[in-house]
Amino acid sequence: MTRHDRFTPHPETHTASRAGWLRAAVLGANDGLVSIASLMVGLAASGVSTSTVVTGGLAGLSAGAMSMAAGEYVSVSSQVDVETADRAKEARELAEAPEAELAELTAIYENRGVPRDLARQVAEALHAADPLQAHLRDELGHSDNTSANPLQAALASAASFLVGGLLPFLGLLAPSSTARLWLIVVVTLSGLALAGVLGARAAGTTVLGPAARVVIGGGLAMAVTAAVGQIAHVSGV
Ligand SMILES: [Zn+2]
Repeated sequence: MTRHDRFTPHPETHTASRAGWLRAAVLGANDGLVSIASLMVGLAASGVSTSTVVTGGLAGLSAGAMSMAAGEYVSVSSQVDVETADRAKEARELAEAPEAELAELTAIYENRGVPRDLARQVAEALHAADPLQAHLRDELGHSDNTSANPLQAALASAASFLVGGLLPFLGLLAPSSTARLWLIVVVTLSGLALAGVLGARAAGTTVLGPAARVVIGGGLAMAVTAAVGQIAHVSGV
């Protein structure tokens, strides 16, 4: 329950706060699906043994999960650093020049279409209640939803990458090497369609467009990697 919800009790605000992490999870799963399936399809197309495809897939799975976790940790950490610096700077400005900060907040509301007198009243009321929070929210766009935990974000994206990346391994259950190749493709495209639908549901948008986009994108990625594997096979690399 954010501060915002008390004033606008629309269900949309809840969707928005949930969409953040769900979108990240869907993105991580997509990433895992496409990269591991492409890796396995590329290896399989190059004509190596199934055990090599499995080894390559597992190596890709751990490399991808680590890379996702590290990337997410760095990205969220720097976002937190920026927010912390903003907060300190804003607190200093409020202490040193409260009147200028009040004028600044008034101007922000005025620019959004609030009449000057009313804007001044709103700014004064907010300055009386919690000036720092008002400036962070309305001047810098911080909200309860934007302040994330780097470690949590890193673990979540690694976990979602693993969930997506394990799916193509189901393709190895097929009896022949050609069937394995195709089952990997089918399982991956189904997984992508599912992730596309979940992502669209989370964002509250139409389902067909986003789902088609990820399926076509994933199909292209696998086709390109398969072609590279095929070339490597033909040239005997
Ligand atoms: Zn300010």
